[in-house]
Amino acid sequence: MTRIYNFSSGPAMLPEPVLAHAQRELMELPGVGMSVLEISHRSKPFDAIIGTCVDNLRKLAGIPTSHHILFLQGGASLQFSMLPMNFLPAGGKADFFVTGTWSQKAVAEAKKVGTAQIAATDEANNFSRIPDRDTWKLDPGAAYVHMTTNETIGGVEWPSEPDVGGVPLIADASSDIFSRPIDVAKYAVIYAGAQKNLGPSGVTLVIVRDDMLAKIPKGLPTMLDYTTHVKEKSLYNTPPVFGIYIIGLVAQWILEQGGLETLGRANADKAKLVYDAIDKSGGFYRPHARPDSRSNMNITFRLPSEALEKRFVSEAARQGMDGLGGHRSVGGIRASIYNAFPRTGVEALVSFMAEFAKQAG
Ligand code: PMP
Repeated sequence: MTRIYNFSSGPAMLPEPVLAHAQRELMELPGVGMSVLEISHRSKPFDAIIGTCVDNLRKLAGIPTSHHILFLQGGASLQFSMLPMNFLPAGGKADFFVTGTWSQKAVAEAKKVGTAQIAATDEANNFSRIPDRDTWKLDPGAAYVHMTTNETIGGVEWPSEPDVGGVPLIADASSDIFSRPIDVAKYAVIYAGAQKNLGPSGVTLVIVRDDMLAKIPKGLPTMLDYTTHVKEKSLYNTPPVFGIYIIGLVAQWILEQGGLETLGRANADKAKLVYDAIDKSGGFYRPHARPDSRSNMNITFRLPSEALEKRFVSEAARQGMDGLGGHRSVGGIRASIYNAFPRTGVEALVSFMAEFAKQAG
């Protein structure tokens, strides 16, 4: 077996024990005679699978009973539309922290529904930092505040959740969910496409606080109304069964690693190895994010020229390190090292970086 180190921004590496577990059960779930891909979503075995998944997630992140856990489809991108449809009332307004491409997309969709206000943005600095506290303009009358906890393209991450007073806080946590401890109680909604930190693509985790449901207008299309999915426990229609199964296994794996405290330390430690390599390169590698806004998930940097960046990406790929090219909109290098990305892969990257800089610098 020659598994490579996949530095892609997502879908991304999954824990090997999870892949092996799924492989073992792919012909037959124990005692069921069928795989998870074949059983009815209304069967007892699937009840157990989704129940275990929810229990594992609650345990993992301390998700209180005030918050519902939903497994939806349409990616995090559909949430950009569903959130304002459900929570931005006619004549109301919502505040947005704009920290990069993904928060811009959330704003664009909200604008189709109502008034989306920019509470703070770092566009002037090419989205290299989380906006400084003294630049925020929060509207106490906003229906909610939306943030992107980690900007996958720029590689900037909020060090902790912002204090937004009494206004409901909604977070797109697609690229750093459960990568460190999180105080779920502080959020009205947390959502994340699974394909980076939690499982395969095709399933979106949505955690929604119960009191938010009272704000949803009547008459929304059934599938776009959170109430439907809360009432039916994500089983209004056929849910993404395989994704739910894998999320349950990944959550179990994180619990076995010692939970979010331990995982958070390991993630910070992995990221520090790469940032140290950048900082000690004498300017050969130039980091994009300001130090206080650096992401532990997506590490973005430039080389002295685009030609060298191209060579860096292709030589790394030849050595079993794939997916290091930056997003097509910004270029440069991006190393995505999510929960399941092994420390050995980070060490391999760091020694490759030193070697490359020596040869090319
Ligand atoms: N938000 C963030 C922060 C993302 O990184 C992504 C995907 N890269 C999305 C939203 C969109 O997610 P999806 O592809 O699941 O719609």
